[in-house]
Amino acid sequence: MATKSLQKLGSDLAQSNKQIEILSNGIFKTGELPTFKDKISETSQFPIKAKKLEILQINVGYMCNQVCDHCHVDAGPDRKEIMTRDTMRQCLEVIKNSGAHTLDLTGGAPEMNPDFRWFVEEAAKVGITDFIVRSNLTIIRANKKYYDLPEFFKKHNVHVVSSMPHWTRGKTDKQRGDGVFDKSIKALQELNAVGYGMPGSDLRLDLVYNPSGAFLPGDQVAMEKDFKKALMDDFGIEFHNLFAITNLPIARFLDYLIASENYEDYMYSLVEVYNPAAVENVMCTNTLSISWDGYLFDCDFNQMLELPVNSKSRHISEFNEELLEGRNIVISQHCYGCTAGAGSSCQGVVA
Ligand code: SF4
Ligand code: SF4
Repeated sequence: MATKSLQKLGSDLAQSNKQIEILSNGIFKTGELPTFKDKISETSQFPIKAKKLEILQINVGYMCNQVCDHCHVDAGPDRKEIMTRDTMRQCLEVIKNSGAHTLDLTGGAPEMNPDFRWFVEEAAKVGITDFIVRSNLTIIRANKKYYDLPEFFKKHNVHVVSSMPHWTRGKTDKQRGDGVFDKSIKALQELNAVGYGMPGSDLRLDLVYNPSGAFLPGDQVAMEKDFKKALMDDFGIEFHNLFAITNLPIARFLDYLIASENYEDYMYSLVEVYNPAAVENVMCTNTLSISWDGYLFDCDFNQMLELPVNSKSRHISEFNEELLEGRNIVISQHCYGCTAGAGSSCQGVVA
């Protein structure tokens, strides 16, 4: 189990160019596997074009109270990149004036940004349709100052999307750290207690599943059924939907794949179940990702690989929705993670 970020450990893989190098060479250089560009060209889907902006996903910082093995952010307590209130103000201007109907706050643990509550309060006033916070659950139990988060979320009608890799202690703690399962269960019970996730409740509580090893997620509908039964039977917990997400081969998951000698097999399995129908709705087509320092990316994964948007509008301070619409999405082999099987996005399957 990791205790420090790759960055803190001084790992080569903390460098985005090193990750891109791995994804561009080896089996993709020799032609053993087609590049993502070649694959989508077979069905005339290159280039992928951004459509109308619907979702603004803002990464308010890479600091996190956990150091999960699979983390594509390489987040952890040692990461110091934090969005400032000035950048948040620029984001608020964009939120007010853009056509996006969904605001999606992510991290790290977004709640650890000292201006998180201020930002939520300000953003909630703008009246977006769906206001998502991606919470790792354990943050709610990490320190007394976070204990009231369920009430705070409720007050601002935040849609809580929480990671929960399994309904058993063993599998959850293996991926996310000792004690994570018990804290997550307690946090879910507290969210239920204020009305989150209850049948018929407007307080949305969705869970995110991602595999704990070098394999792809199973059927989302079947897994949701299993999660619901187990969490209700064992702990009396309710939630609305389960999103099944494929791990993308970047950052700590890439490190894990290489260290466990699973990298090539994993890439083969992603390419094997490539689904051209999923390309149409990959999340970069309607989402824009904003980094802690205000730069614009096609998605959170491209943000971590430091692949900026292919547009003259590259920073929140020069946000131009017209320029961004129709841009060519920047792709590499990690994109196979979004088009495997039923597809994968921050909202689960896409095809
Ligand atoms: S996966 Fe989420 S909870 Fe885990 S270290 Fe990364 S940001 Fe934190
Ligand atoms: S990784 Fe990002 S850019 Fe690539 S297909 Fe997925 S959402 Fe789009």
